[in-house]
Amino acid sequence: MTTQEADASGTCVGNLNTNADRRLNGKVAIITGGASGIGEAIVRLFTKHGAKVIIADIADEAGRNLAGSLSPPATYVHCDVSKEQDVRAAVDLAMEKHGQLDIMYNNAGIIVAGKSVAEYDMEQFDRVMRVNVRGVMLGIKHAARVMIPRKKGCIISTASIAGIVGGFAPYSYTVSKHAVIGLTKNGAAELGKYGIRVNAVSPYGSATPLAVEYLKQGDASSSASEVDNKAAVEAFCSSVANLEGTIHKVEDIAEAGLYLASDEAKYVSGHNLVVDGGITVVNHSWKTYR
Ligand code: NAD
Repeated sequence: MTTQEADASGTCVGNLNTNADRRLNGKVAIITGGASGIGEAIVRLFTKHGAKVIIADIADEAGRNLAGSLSPPATYVHCDVSKEQDVRAAVDLAMEKHGQLDIMYNNAGIIVAGKSVAEYDMEQFDRVMRVNVRGVMLGIKHAARVMIPRKKGCIISTASIAGIVGGFAPYSYTVSKHAVIGLTKNGAAELGKYGIRVNAVSPYGSATPLAVEYLKQGDASSSASEVDNKAAVEAFCSSVANLEGTIHKVEDIAEAGLYLASDEAKYVSGHNLVVDGGITVVNHSWKTYR
């Protein structure tokens, strides 16, 4: 039996009634970038499924408010994922508070509109790499530190379709997300012998603050400079999507993360679960089926 109440935005806020329904019951999860967008959806879904959640973010007010609004409340910790001392402290907090870390979800990420490679701003490049790559590396490193002795654990990172196909995003973002998938594979290769699974989730565009802000900047590779709000981003992403009749929502991405974090995925490691309605495996310029 479940109670699945929804708030005005359609976000599921209810908890599940029985332990059998809760796919993460008693598991301890750190979710970086959990204060907003995809991370917020993961925080809500994981809490609903019985996880003890720690939100690790730099958006202190949003993170604290979200943590306090959940039932049971989550914990919020200020954590800049590009700073090793912050990631170490977030993992240590999980150990001190709960005695274990079952799920490390490296979700925090940024995107900065980029120019042609010939004019690329290398400071921006380094900034994106620091958060999106160094941040994930640090998440894997410090999760492994406490998971190896327990010989179990699950590490998930949010990559992107830009980690698979070129031309969806600026150089810095594309490179960084390819790197996240590389980190996932290397992590799975090394940590498998300790029973630790390492996976990635690669979403298509969804209307989060990151996507709204990015598309507002009118990236050189996009004709969407007029896109300036959530509905417009959804309309834009739908207009260039492969799968029709539905809209890609942050909850779709959270459900993929839930599967990978759950025991149902106990033999899945080194995998990149692509949530993109098929856009990365079809050729849109070839009109055979259209
Ligand atoms: P968002 O901006 O809504 O949320 C990102 C969160 O990360 C924010 O709460 C922000 O404060 C936090 N954050 C940023 N820098 C941080 C840092 N240094 N340390 C800790 N936290 C930090 O964006 P989102 O769209 O939900 O993005 C989440 C992840 O999904 C990112 O890795 C992003 O690259 C990826 N992604 C997003 C889309 C999309 O279309 N929205 C598509 C594919 C992948």
